[in-house]
Amino acid sequence: MLLTEFCTRLPELRRRLKDGDRVLVEQAVLAARDGKPVDAKVSQLLGPGVQLTEVYGPSTGVNGAFLCPTGKCGRVVYRRAGDELPVCPLFERDLRFVADG
Ligand SMILES: [Zn+2]
Repeated sequence: MLLTEFCTRLPELRRRLKDGDRVLVEQAVLAARDGKPVDAKVSQLLGPGVQLTEVYGPSTGVNGAFLCPTGKCGRVVYRRAGDELPVCPLFERDLRFVADG
């Protein structure tokens, strides 16, 4: 899901892009919050075949995951001990903890 990748890479895009491209990022963020289609814009910003810089996977002792409370962003974060509470940069919301079973 493109929004998930966009959310995951948003902090990096904000750091890396400048000027016009940075404006495009913020326009895509606002459009996503309004529930408008952003696929074309976002694909352009993310570029082809770029690897995710952050990869989260379940680690030992994890018994649940953090999900975006809006339900629009499909990002799932497995928090490791010592990590800060995850937030969704796309919707500026704290992620909600959902315990397994
Ligand atoms: Zn998100």
